[in-house]
Amino acid sequence: MSVNRILSSKGHEVVTIAPDRLLDEAVRMLAERRIGAVLVRDGEHPVSGIISERDIVRAVSTHGADALHMPLSSFMTAKVVTCTSASSVNDVMEAMTNGRFRHVPVVEEGRLIGIISIGDVVKHRLAEIEAEAQSIRDYIATA
Ligand code: AMP
Repeated sequence: MSVNRILSSKGHEVVTIAPDRLLDEAVRMLAERRIGAVLVRDGEHPVSGIISERDIVRAVSTHGADALHMPLSSFMTAKVVTCTSASSVNDVMEAMTNGRFRHVPVVEEGRLIGIISIGDVVKHRLAEIEAEAQSIRDYIATA
């Protein structure tokens, strides 16, 4: 199964923020949108970084509440692992496991076209396993 299949059911929306915004704005976005990470974009590159709830926990642990009034670029991860819509979901799962992160942006021809979270991967893997089990049950029933 490819990433494209997941995007066609979940959609292409990606919540983004500019790197010069303050951390508290990212916190509000995560809370309001009920998501775990926001993509950071500077208007030039498809992806300039990613800020996830883990980065925010680390920032507050180091700087206390002052972190909330600092630019989020100080806390984001700038080297972001991305995939394309043709990437296999297995490869994305492997990248998440090896890199210990739960979000992978989808970039195609220099354009950000979606984001895959570990929740999306698990949901589609379960549906796939259920479909496989059903086809085995159907096969046994008709054999
Ligand atoms: P997450 O598990 O996605 O909440 O992120 C855990 C850590 O990995 C945080 O420091 C994120 O900034 C970073 N991170 C999240 N997604 C990616 C990615 N696709 N590539 C590189 N780092 C990431």
